[in-house]
Amino acid sequence: VWGFNGTERPGAVYLASVLASHAQKGLPAFGIYGHDVQNLDEVTNIPADVQEKLLRFGRAAVAVASMRGKSYLQIGSICMGIGGSIIDPAFIESYLGMRVESVDEVEIIRRMSEGIYDAEEVAKCKAWIAENCKEGWDKNPDFVKTSDEKKAEQWDFLAKMYCIIKDMFNGNPNLPKGCEEEMVGHNAIAGGFQGQRQWTDFYPNCDFPEALLNSTFDHNGAREPYILATENDVLNGLGMLFIKLLTNRAAMFSDVRTYWSPEACERASGHKVDGVAAENGGFIHLINSGATALDACGECKDENGNGVMRKWWEVSEEDIKKMCEATTWPAADNGYFRGGGFSSSFTTRADMPATMIRLNLVKGLGPVLQIAEGWTVQLPDDVTKTLMMRTDPTWPCTWFTPRCDGKEGSPFNTAYDVMNNWGANHGAIGYGHIGADLITLCSMLRIPVCMHNVPESEIFRPAAWNAFGMDKEGADYRACAAYGPMYKAY
Ligand code: MN
Repeated sequence: VWGFNGTERPGAVYLASVLASHAQKGLPAFGIYGHDVQNLDEVTNIPADVQEKLLRFGRAAVAVASMRGKSYLQIGSICMGIGGSIIDPAFIESYLGMRVESVDEVEIIRRMSEGIYDAEEVAKCKAWIAENCKEGWDKNPDFVKTSDEKKAEQWDFLAKMYCIIKDMFNGNPNLPKGCEEEMVGHNAIAGGFQGQRQWTDFYPNCDFPEALLNSTFDHNGAREPYILATENDVLNGLGMLFIKLLTNRAAMFSDVRTYWSPEACERASGHKVDGVAAENGGFIHLINSGATALDACGECKDENGNGVMRKWWEVSEEDIKKMCEATTWPAADNGYFRGGGFSSSFTTRADMPATMIRLNLVKGLGPVLQIAEGWTVQLPDDVTKTLMMRTDPTWPCTWFTPRCDGKEGSPFNTAYDVMNNWGANHGAIGYGHIGADLITLCSMLRIPVCMHNVPESEIFRPAAWNAFGMDKEGADYRACAAYGPMYKAY
C-alpha cells in the first residue's frame, strides 16, 4: 500500500490505518510512505524512493506468483549423500506452493531406446553442437582415454539427453504419436539431475545438458533459461530459481570450493592481489562440473564495456557466439565420471557485481537463506591457470569476493569469514547486487534471512515486521515463525 505523502489528502493516515488493521488481522502488508511531501497535482509523479519500493515489491510478488502451482522435477534422487539433494516435498509445498515430481533417471534411457523424442529437434541440436561446441583438453591418461569414435557417440547421446530433459520439464507436442502422456511434461519450473554416482558410473554425465539448460540460449537461439541443478541439489536449484525469477538472467551453480587469502594466493602463484580482493581479505573459488550457465563467462558487455549476464530476451546472436567461443568442452575426468561426458570449461574474465545465496533447511528451525553480495574477480590468466591446476582445470572457474565489513565477529569480517560461515557445499550466484530483492522475496515466503550484507536502508519487509523488535534479523525470525509458511503448516 502506497500512502501518498500530501497534506490535502490523508494518505499517511490511510496507510497507517490499513497497516495497523492488517497487522491486527494477521495479514502482513507492505507499506510505502514517500519521504517528501508532494502537491496534490503531483499524484501521478511517483518519487524515486516510492518507485524503488514498488518495483522491489513487484519483482518479488511476481516471483512468488510464478512459482505457485509449478513443479520441481527431480530426475533421480539423493546424490552422494548430499543433504541438499534429500528432497523435502513438505517444505516445497508449504513454503513455495509448488509440488515435487519425482522421476527415475532410467526414464531418459527409456525415451532414447523407444524413440520418444523430437527427432528433428535432436538433429538440429547435434548440428549446432558440431558448429558451436569446441571439444577441449582431455586430461585422462591414455589407458582410460575415450576413443574419438566413442566421443562422437557421446555427443549424440548428450544431444538426445538435452532435448529429452527439456521435454520432461514442459512437454512437447511434437513427440511421436501415441506418446500423449510424455507430450504433457511435468509442469516444471526447476529441476535437478542426480548423476553421481550410478548414472555417471555408466553413462555420460549431465554436464552438457545442465550447462545449456541453465544458459540463456540453445540451438534455437536466445530463450528463457531453465533451472537444472547438478547433483540434484534441490536447495541450490531453488536458490537459482529465486535468482532467475527476480532478474530474468541465468543463474550460476557452483561448489563454494576454496578460500584463497591474499597471502596464500601469493605463495601459490607469486601474484599479489589488488582491488576488491585485497580490500575484502581475499577471494572464494566458485567451480563445479556441470550446471553453471555459459552466461557467467563475462564475455557479453554492457553499453560501458563492462561484463554482464544479460536478461534472456536481450541476448543477441553475437552474444551467443561470444559465450560459445569462450567455452570449451573437455572430456570428463574418467576417474570419477567413468561413463564419460563433457564439462563446460571457461573462466569468468570480468569484474561483475554478483550475489551468492544459499537456501538451507535446518531441523527444528526450517528454511533459512544466506546472501553475500560481492564481485566476480578477474585474475591474470597465468594466475588462474596455476590455481586451477591444483583442482579440476576442466571445469568452469569463477573467482568471487564478497563485500565485507571488517568487523570482528561478523560473518562478513573478511572473505574468509563468509566462506567459514557458508551453510553448505554449493552456492547459487546471480548477476548484480540483488540482496534487497531477495530479502523482500524471503519475507513474502516467510523464510528468515540468517546472514546478509545488504545495507539496512535497502531492506523492505512487511510493516508488521517492525512489531517484532528493533534488530531487523531477530525480528525477521520472529515474524516468519509467527506467520508461518504461506500455503500450509510445515
Ligand atoms: Mn558440487
